[in-house]
Amino acid sequence: MQRREFIKTSGLAGLALAGGSITGCSGRVKPYKVGGVERMRLSFEPYELQLRHTFTVASYSRTTTPGVQVRIDYDGFTGHGEASMPPYLGQSVESVCNFLARVDLSQFSDPFRMEEILDYVDSLSEGDSAAKAAVDIALHDLTGQLLGQPWYRIWGLDPGKAPSTTFTIGIDTPDVVREKTRECAGLYNILKVKVGLDNDEQMIRTIREITDLPLAVDANQGWKDRQKALDEIYWLKEMGVVMVEQPMSKDRPEDNAWITEHSPLPIYADEAIQRLRDLPSIRGAYHGINIKLMKCTGMREAYRMAAWARAEGMRTMFGCMTETSCAVTAAAHLSPLADFADLDGNLLISNDLFEGVTVRGGRLILPSRPGLGLIPRG
Ligand code: MG
Repeated sequence: MQRREFIKTSGLAGLALAGGSITGCSGRVKPYKVGGVERMRLSFEPYELQLRHTFTVASYSRTTTPGVQVRIDYDGFTGHGEASMPPYLGQSVESVCNFLARVDLSQFSDPFRMEEILDYVDSLSEGDSAAKAAVDIALHDLTGQLLGQPWYRIWGLDPGKAPSTTFTIGIDTPDVVREKTRECAGLYNILKVKVGLDNDEQMIRTIREITDLPLAVDANQGWKDRQKALDEIYWLKEMGVVMVEQPMSKDRPEDNAWITEHSPLPIYADEAIQRLRDLPSIRGAYHGINIKLMKCTGMREAYRMAAWARAEGMRTMFGCMTETSCAVTAAAHLSPLADFADLDGNLLISNDLFEGVTVRGGRLILPSRPGLGLIPRG
């Protein structure tokens, strides 16, 4: 479905504020002034992400992901942000647009007061993490551009320490898994395999017919019995798996903690945590955490979660949803802090709006341009 048709049929056209189309946004925007003082102007527009392949995990399959593109214009600069809403996140184009319509940035004259601005955005509702992330990412992009520096540099991080990214292979038939593995085996240094249905062994053995690359495994809460899960983890280690994500339901903390205690591989929490405030509740129950901007409200909180994990002696990975290079690049600026990066969401879609982070020899290459370093695609 074309973007314009989508706006029309979803009845959200009235919510897409003035400010020009997202894709044709280069060039100076007319200053927006209140009382003679320049203010930030927020605009947004739904943008549906088209997946290259049907994507299947333990709980669902899909071919598109709903998203909303956001921009903040100020003093001739444009910061880009993005909300991506896979079904399990419980947010929609409508909920994101309703939230963004309530965000009034015109009350702030200085975009560098990020604490004040983002605290205000966070205070507008209890949830809406993806919508909040979209504003946070756009504000970071904007302020980085105003400073003339890329965000990894503002944080004091070495872009040479950005890790290899995993590339995800979803649950599928052996023929499709074989084909996908052949396609990506020479391009990446580590693959991530979705498991948690009843064909885990078949998935792993099929991939092992093609490649001996290290594998990360994500059960997406799909395992139901902790002893069987632990037995499988021992087998996975023999098969060259190096880490496991969210083995059992987030609602069974004791079982996940028991697996962590006995596991020969590091166990990472994903669905069990969303934001900084959730982290004390999983202390000791996992070896590491998967930080995703769409869950945690953006770059500001993601950095704090990574700092918390380091202080607690826990490991860190950065993950993503299916996203354009906008949100994936935002997370990539933090990736030098991580033990693992799972930042392939932009590689899974066919209608990316930006050039940003790239993958060379399997490693993440961060753009050195100011802000997020995005270039809108014509
Ligand atoms: Mg996961």
